[in-house]
Amino acid sequence: MAISVSEPDPGTNQPLVLMFGGTFDPVHNGHLRSALELTQVLPVRAVHLIPCQIPPHRDQPGASAEQRLAMLQLAVKNEPLLQADDRELKRPGPSWSVDTLSSLRQQYGAEQPLAMVLGWDAFMGLPDWSRNEELLDLAHLIVLTRPGQMSDASEALCGLLENHELKPGEQLNAVPFGRILRLSLPSAMQVSATYIRRLLGQQASARYLLPDAVIEFIRSHRLYQ
Ligand code: ATP
Repeated sequence: MAISVSEPDPGTNQPLVLMFGGTFDPVHNGHLRSALELTQVLPVRAVHLIPCQIPPHRDQPGASAEQRLAMLQLAVKNEPLLQADDRELKRPGPSWSVDTLSSLRQQYGAEQPLAMVLGWDAFMGLPDWSRNEELLDLAHLIVLTRPGQMSDASEALCGLLENHELKPGEQLNAVPFGRILRLSLPSAMQVSATYIRRLLGQQASARYLLPDAVIEFIRSHRLYQ
């Protein structure tokens, strides 16, 4: 993996814009609580929750793109900093994170501190991502870690962390891009969409794992049966 070498100009300490991508099939309280807690532990002006296109060969009984977006919209309805964002669903073909970050960068401008949120496991796979060397020239990375769940980073990722990890006393929003922050959120939850789909497939209740409004949407559209 190539190490990004450009050094961002000091920014204007504006609050961060965060990109939180996923399949959201369906959105659940693990996603929502993390997104909300990010706005509580960091200066944040918006969290864009961005459903991705799902390849047609996926074997799970899933919801359509429109339904995944509708559930996300219901879930964030009363949280002004959380935005259901359909930009990847509007783009034909596969969605690469660099393209989504470029689109957010265009929307907010060069000075805006921008960060992509990803789990430690996804970070482990970063060397295989398309055009990964461009990511840190576009945005910061916020890597969510969970105690006991951290596998060892490869040599390439250790090098990346060495060069880009936020130093003690540094603020993530002091520059627009180029830093990595490892962050453990206060109430990390074990819930996954896979588990919820499995419960629903067995006609078992998934209550308290996702918002009631989303459960009602799933019920009325007979999803995941
Ligand atoms: P699936 O079980 O279908 O793989 P998922 O529950 O992992 O789905 P995704 O939509 O794939 O959900 O995840 C979107 C993002 O949310 C990813 O960055 C993922 O790391 C993160 N995420 C998933 N589950 C949780 C959770 N319980 N707490 C915090 N973040 C989560």
